[in-house]
Amino acid sequence: MSKRILVTGGAGFLGSHLCDRLLERGEQVICLDNFFTGTRSNIAHLIDHEQFSVLEHDIIEPAYVDVDEIYNLACPAAPGHYQHDPIYTTKTSFIGTWHMLGLAKRCQARFLQASTSEVYGDPEVDPQSETYRGSVNPIGPRACYDEGKRAAESLIFDYHRQHNISIKVARIFNTYGPRMHPFDGRVVSNFIRQALQGEELTLYGTGEQTRAFCYVDDLVGGLMALMDSDEAVTGPINLGNPGVFTIRQLAEMVAEQTKSSGAIVQARPLPIDDPRDRRPDITLARDLLNWEPKVPLNEGLSRTIQWFDSININDYDPPTPDY
Ligand code: NAD
Ligand code: UDP
Repeated sequence: MSKRILVTGGAGFLGSHLCDRLLERGEQVICLDNFFTGTRSNIAHLIDHEQFSVLEHDIIEPAYVDVDEIYNLACPAAPGHYQHDPIYTTKTSFIGTWHMLGLAKRCQARFLQASTSEVYGDPEVDPQSETYRGSVNPIGPRACYDEGKRAAESLIFDYHRQHNISIKVARIFNTYGPRMHPFDGRVVSNFIRQALQGEELTLYGTGEQTRAFCYVDDLVGGLMALMDSDEAVTGPINLGNPGVFTIRQLAEMVAEQTKSSGAIVQARPLPIDDPRDRRPDITLARDLLNWEPKVPLNEGLSRTIQWFDSININDYDPPTPDY
């Protein structure tokens, strides 16, 4: 029998791909979203699917539905988005998660949280494993997101211990692919948008900072494997692609694949608290979920560039002015 599954943030980048995959598996999916950074176009192809429904709602308010599983993805995720209204970000992360946990408690639903590598802050160890407790500036401009997600993790584990809720916490590392918002200001979407429009590719700082980029299909497979794992597997568990690149290398790859005429320029200083190096240790995910990413960066970039090439950028409004 199919399950009833709530995907909060279901109209967003990751959430819309997750809705696709759950429906492909035959599940009933309720996509909850307030369309802050997600778009109706991300789920337009699902609207007539009889197993799919949309609930326009803000998780800062409680939601009343009956479900078997909850994937809690609702939260602005790009730095320009989450720093635009930082108090709202903290409220979404903490109060929103609290409401979704209350829902899980009432329905006895299994709860999966989209946490983040940002809980490690600007890490002093490389790669980062789940035992590393992080180096977060609690009062900086990224804190609304980093500390919001950390507080959410702590609340989730208290619901597990106090109310016996079945929980799964994924710490997601930088993920990219089709349906990233073209104006989310994240590095992959910025570089591809800039390259396709013949603009300069904007490095922040020297471009020597590193990130590890995971293709969206791999990541969504990891989230589903975690949700389906044994009851004893709670996480936190890192999900990401361990292949590491400098931001300058990424710019060069995008420029080459798009045959861009735009130069690669050092456009601004590194943003405050921008992590210097980030790379997941995915030993736990390999051992417990038998999961690892399959799509290499050049292949994933090619698919993402194809998608950006296929959309009309004028159909997209920047959710916030900072990108
Ligand atoms: P996204 O911005 O595309 O998706 C977030 C979705 O949540 C959007 O559709 C937005 O409209 C919705 N939303 C935001 N606040 C809401 C609220 N208060 N109530 C209801 N809906 C709300 O971002 P994404 O990249 O798809 O990220 C999804 C989740 O994964 C986030 O929780 C994010 O923290 C986490 N994550 C993503 C990455 C990544 O690289 N993409 C990395 C780490 C963690
Ligand atoms: N970055 C950049 N140029 C851009 C956008 C981002 O050099 O146009 C850098 C940013 O400073 C960071 C890295 O790329 O070092 C990744 O940024 P992103 O916002 O994608 O995600 P983060 O990992 O910082 O959350």
